[in-house]
Order: sequence, then structure tokens, then C-alpha cells
Amino acid sequence: MIKLQIAVAGVAMAAIMTAPSFAGDHGQHKAHWGYSGEAGPGHWGSLKAAYATCGAGAQQSPINIQAQRALASKVGEIKFSYKPTPVKVLNNGHTIQVNYAPGNTMSVGGKTYELLQFHFHSPSEHMINDKHAKMEAHLVHKAADGKLAVVGIMMNVGKALDALAPVWSRLPHELNKVALNPGTVNAADLLPANAQNYYHYMGSLTTPPCTESVSWYVMKDAVEVAASQAAEFVDLIGENARPVQGVNRRFMLSNE
Ligand SMILES: [Zn+2]
Repeated sequence: MIKLQIAVAGVAMAAIMTAPSFAGDHGQHKAHWGYSGEAGPGHWGSLKAAYATCGAGAQQSPINIQAQRALASKVGEIKFSYKPTPVKVLNNGHTIQVNYAPGNTMSVGGKTYELLQFHFHSPSEHMINDKHAKMEAHLVHKAADGKLAVVGIMMNVGKALDALAPVWSRLPHELNKVALNPGTVNAADLLPANAQNYYHYMGSLTTPPCTESVSWYVMKDAVEVAASQAAEFVDLIGENARPVQGVNRRFMLSNE
């Protein structure tokens, strides 16, 4: 399980592995990636060799999804098999990440992916028709062959998202401290009412090492999050959205 999480969440891995030296070692801290200045997104590709794809990749995420350019297509039904599950909430310094126990899957195109974790960005990383949402949730899944699928959910300010209450009530304010027992969370409660209404394209992790061949499923319909919930996240983490990347020669599909 640990190995699985490390392989997927390169982000979390980097944060966890540098944790012991994080507090007192400023040199180590400087070498780490972030969202502004010398360690910001425009510099990720040159921070270290392992991050080269962040600068050189041609299939990077996030992107600005233009509805008019998306090809109407039968990508297929996504079968979400999510259930109430015990979780662990981690503040890795880049986001709040909710790690899942095994047993939740999504299946699409004949392939089944296990839900490993979900986490948040503010503002949203993807844009739809040139617009950001207040936040974006990323549900990160991995198939048996190692391929990743991420479901992106835009979150606009509105009524409180009750599904987040157990997580938000235990937001870890300390780096790399895991909050246990926030109760069970059902990732299905994060999905918009129509979760078959989505865009699909091939992209990457949006954080170093920016690994490509990630199947993205970005929901067309946003969910709502309370202004106070969004503010609490930003107060804790700061803004953590990578700017949109070039679409280049990629197709965007619109599941119809
Ligand atoms: Zn993300």
C-alpha cells in the first residue's frame, strides 16, 4: 500500500521523504518545488533531472478545455464503485490529500482503476472555456498496469459541500502530520449529479515529476463548496494551481 502511494503521488512522496530535514534545513527547503518564485511552475523542469518532463513534455496538464474544440464522442460510461471508506488526511505542504484504504474503483473503457487519494487545488487548475473555478478536486486512481486516471471536479462557491465536512473538521495544520479517524468519506459524494457528463484527454500529473500518460476525466458540471471551506483551504495551503499548459496535438473528447 505504501509502495502504491509513493509510485502515484510523486508529490506526496517528495514531501514525505524530505520531511525529516524540512524543519531545520533551509537548503533542502529551497531545492523543493512550489508555486511561486524560483521554485515556481515555470522552473520545475530545471529544478532537478527527475522533473525534466515538467518543462519538456508536450502532453502536460492542466489545460484550458474549450468546449467548442472538444470532439463529441462515446468515450463510455464511467462506472464508479465508491463506498464509505476510512481515510487519512495529510497536509503535504502542497495540498490537503485524503488517502484511501483499498476497495474503491472506477472503470471506463474496459479498464479498472483503484482510487488512491483525492486532493484539492485553489484556484482550479483546469479552465473550462477560459474560466477557472474557485477550487478543483482531483481523484487519483491507478490501474493494475500502473496507468493513472484522474477525475477532475470543478468547485464553485455556493453552499457547503457536506461530503467534505469530516475532512475539513480535521485539516492538519502541521506539515506531514496525518489526521486519523476523520470518520468515513464516500468519494461518490464529491461527484456532480451527472458524472457521465465529462471531458476526456491524455495529460500528466500537474505536480513534479509531471509524469505523462495520465487519463484525465474532467467533469463538465461543477459542485459547490462554501466560501468558508475554500478560504480555510487557501489560508492553510496558499494558492496551488499550476498554470494551464499547451494543448499541442492532443484531442479533447466530450462524452455524449
Ligand atoms: Zn492535483
